[in-house]
Amino acid sequence: MINQSDIYNWLGETDPDRLTELWELADDVRGENVGDEVHLRGLLEFSNRCVRPCAYCGLRAENRDLQRYRMTPDEILACARKATELGYGTVVFQSGQDQAMTGQWLAEIIERITEQLPLAITLSVGERTAEEFALWRRAGAGRYLLRFETSDPALYDLTHPGLDGGRLNRFTILHTLRRLGYELGSGVMVGIPGQSFRTLARDIEMFAKLDLDMIGSGPFIPTPNTPLGENSDAFPPAERQVPNDELMSYKVIALTRLICPQANIPTTTAVATLDGPEAYELGLRRGANVIMPNITPPEYRRLYAIYPDKAGVNQDDDYHERLKKMITAVGRRIGVGRGDSPNYRRVSKCAL
Ligand code: SAH
Repeated sequence: MINQSDIYNWLGETDPDRLTELWELADDVRGENVGDEVHLRGLLEFSNRCVRPCAYCGLRAENRDLQRYRMTPDEILACARKATELGYGTVVFQSGQDQAMTGQWLAEIIERITEQLPLAITLSVGERTAEEFALWRRAGAGRYLLRFETSDPALYDLTHPGLDGGRLNRFTILHTLRRLGYELGSGVMVGIPGQSFRTLARDIEMFAKLDLDMIGSGPFIPTPNTPLGENSDAFPPAERQVPNDELMSYKVIALTRLICPQANIPTTTAVATLDGPEAYELGLRRGANVIMPNITPPEYRRLYAIYPDKAGVNQDDDYHERLKKMITAVGRRIGVGRGDSPNYRRVSKCAL
């Protein structure tokens, strides 16, 4: 099993032949553990409202230039139906931390979908109460994504201030979600100012310690109108600062596969934003087995502006067909059904 110092060394590797070895190793481990199926998850960004002041994110509450929206339950249901028609087995509901959205409101949508459609539901709606997580689990949501963003507590506090000055701990929330029987997803941003190679190696090791079922990471992209988009002195680079580039992002995907062989690992939109559409293909060849096509209606998609020029904002209707062709062209199959994480099935952590 790969350890923290191996990870650290790989992160600093620049030799092209050695890197080819890393990609091949990750691809082999992917094939042996999760097979050739590529699972497609329809990503629905249903609300960009947010109460939080995260220093990296364009949805932060202080960003008053952004027009805010929350889709109606009927609009959400129509998108979920479209995901089913496109052959996706999962919808991922993502939003800012929309505190005006009640737990009950979301629970009713989850219930309607699980009654009417054969979809697995993943939630990614931020830091909510244990009662709400339990309510949504009972309503039928099976998976939750909450990136811990960085394992360095000082960097976390700086980039992710608590509300009312309170300190928050996403690790505590991840444990609550696990206890409730969710299939558990997390991840980090790659190249946040102040993130050193040592920290990133620790982040990746943390994926295994948390025994994550789904792990999505992507490059940090500076966003205008945010403290981290404005070259602030408050965020000096680390001594060995991690670059927020595509190569480093692929290394993180590959190393994540080596340390968590059975996890579901997406090749994320942020990598495609930096590296163009072929990023999805490269991610699939370097350890990933999941793609999350955006199914948000275009008029809302452009408002879900976590960072600028997000890939897929101008995605057309042919996109889904092209994606399927690309998957076949790289010698893989489109996953059928829910595509639960083998890591989750292995331990059967369903504690409900
Ligand atoms: N409110 C939810 C969903 C946030 S958006 C939550 O906080 O969990 C999902 C992810 O987008 C975040 O977890 C973060 O890692 C990523 N993200 C936000 N701003 C970003 C930026 N500027 N560059 C790269 N990734 C970003």
